[in-house]
Amino acid sequence: MELVGVSLERLIDSVLTEFDVAQSIFAYPKRRFFTGYSEVDFSVDFHDQKAATPLGPASGPHTQMAQNIVLSFLGGCRIMELKTIQILDQLEIGRPCIDARNVCYNIEWSQELRLDDSFDEYVKAWILLKIIEEEELFGPPKGSPFYDTIFDLSVGYDLKGISSPQVKAWIAGMIDAGAAIRARLEALPARLQHYKNLDIPSEISRSITLSTFHGCPADEIEKIVEHLIEEHRVHVIVKMNPTLLGYDDVSRILNDKLGYQHIRLDPAAFDHDMQFDEAVEMMKRLKKFAQKYDRKVGAKFTNTLVVKNQKDVFPDDDVAYLSGAPLHVLSINAMHRFRKALGEEVAISFSAGIDQHNVVDAVLCNMVPVTTCTDLLKKGGYTRLFMYLKRLKDAMVAAECRTLDAFIRKRAGLTASDDLYRAGLINGERIVPHLVHNPRYHHEANKKEPPRIDSQLVFFDCVSCNICVPVCPNAANFFLVTGTQQFGMTNYRYQQNTFVPADGKFFVLEKKNQYANLAEFCNDCGNCDTFCPEDGAPFIEKPRFFHSEEGYRASFPLDGFFFPTPFSMTGRLDEKEYYLALHQERKEIRWQSPEVDFVFDDDGTLLRGTPRTELAEGAVIDTEVFYIMKILMESILKLPDDFPAVLMRGIMAEAG
Ligand code: SF4
Ligand code: SF4
Repeated sequence: MELVGVSLERLIDSVLTEFDVAQSIFAYPKRRFFTGYSEVDFSVDFHDQKAATPLGPASGPHTQMAQNIVLSFLGGCRIMELKTIQILDQLEIGRPCIDARNVCYNIEWSQELRLDDSFDEYVKAWILLKIIEEEELFGPPKGSPFYDTIFDLSVGYDLKGISSPQVKAWIAGMIDAGAAIRARLEALPARLQHYKNLDIPSEISRSITLSTFHGCPADEIEKIVEHLIEEHRVHVIVKMNPTLLGYDDVSRILNDKLGYQHIRLDPAAFDHDMQFDEAVEMMKRLKKFAQKYDRKVGAKFTNTLVVKNQKDVFPDDDVAYLSGAPLHVLSINAMHRFRKALGEEVAISFSAGIDQHNVVDAVLCNMVPVTTCTDLLKKGGYTRLFMYLKRLKDAMVAAECRTLDAFIRKRAGLTASDDLYRAGLINGERIVPHLVHNPRYHHEANKKEPPRIDSQLVFFDCVSCNICVPVCPNAANFFLVTGTQQFGMTNYRYQQNTFVPADGKFFVLEKKNQYANLAEFCNDCGNCDTFCPEDGAPFIEKPRFFHSEEGYRASFPLDGFFFPTPFSMTGRLDEKEYYLALHQERKEIRWQSPEVDFVFDDDGTLLRGTPRTELAEGAVIDTEVFYIMKILMESILKLPDDFPAVLMRGIMAEAG
């Protein structure tokens, strides 16, 4: 499926109504919201801006859609590295594209949306965060530093693309998004007009993290940074590749010391990528260049590591990109070595195998932001962020430090007047060399696969473990409350121009919750399949709902449903189309199949029926699809304010 966002109006309705009735947002429960800690102040400087925490989602599956960015915010992220955009915005990416069984591999490397659609998602996310602040959903009053959030753009991948008119216009649009913000607020319906005059900063971003192709020559990287600073006056971070460490060191750490002997490196990638000394010299020159424009440069450690694809999950690709625990050791070693060789301060940000256990050490190395991705693909998804900041708070309280700067200095044994950059280096010297010996990063500790049971996933009923809901980066999986059900279905025989009851099968729902999928939020990445304990993928086997007719029609012949109106539902099963509509006043249900047009009372008793095609005398109409659609419709109506219902049907106030 292609990703398609929903309108700002539906997103606002979804966030506010779900929070009101369920104390959750996109199924992320309030009890795991980051609401700040009175004992500590996590605020950091990123270039020349303040962010309320140093935490961020890394550019990737968690920063692709508006709802992803909101979910990251709920967990406490305040520096959002948006997913990398590029001139080639109509990529065909193989599916599945993520394999996070233990360490993580992926083959998805760039924003899948068109440039305009990425822009729209980021603008909507920016507005949504301001509305969350305006509504004070978390408790802290609006205007409080608690809400200070930075959007860091990520662009790729070569000078030609980045200097193209389309990408230039895209970046300019994010730097001054005033018109785009106003247009979206103006388009809100009258009932949301109180948001129309919200004072929302028009500058969505003033910094870029640059991602380049593996093999991009150092001089081209340098030219891109210069171009970005000259043309857009932005601060720039260069995302480094772990190949910077050199083949021998990467192999020694990864294969020998950490024990990932089965991971095969690609020696050519090391030859073609920027070399360590080139990177150091380039950064020195760029720092001077940026100073002329009163801008800052820095380095991000690191990109994923290109390795030979084992082809068990991604059959068509020769290479895959490694992240997770082993990358953490490689990247932080590369960072520390780079910082020492550079010998002067530049901004350093980080992304590689960050989780609740190492986030404190990463912060102690004075890196901003510390971003995470692989860990959020695991059980619990975005809610795992909660423990990151709790652990950071606990460590700061234990060290009797209120601010992060004080914490970093104190753990380095320095005083308040000492240089923070030096403190980061000292902490790095203490932390980094030991990581390679820490068993938690070794293959032995990272080879377990998610548990499986001997059961085939089907349309209804499963073990109802709920794992597929939070592991989806896009909030595409959800559950419906159907209650358990058992009844005999009634089929109908066509006899002398009328329909008479005939025996049907027995219908059983053993579980009170049924799982389903929001089709346009699902890009078939495969992550819910990885973690579902049953055989089969939730996003394939479970009922699929489209939020637009367009998406539904375009996805033929996939099974699925959409709501033409809040009380009617069109569905396709095995390439046949059905329609079901509730007439609330008459307490009737109309159901159309390709063969018949039936009207039932609300108990499911047939009131009248007419053929829609020529029926043979004695033909039996199988009504199983009627019961399926009725159960789905009724369960959606049971939770009209929950996010999937609002996204699919709009809010009930609109339904009238
Ligand atoms: S529903 Fe599953 S396959 Fe689809 S985006 Fe979410 S995790 Fe990926
Ligand atoms: S579909 Fe799979 S992961 Fe989702 S609730 Fe059912 S068994 Fe669990």
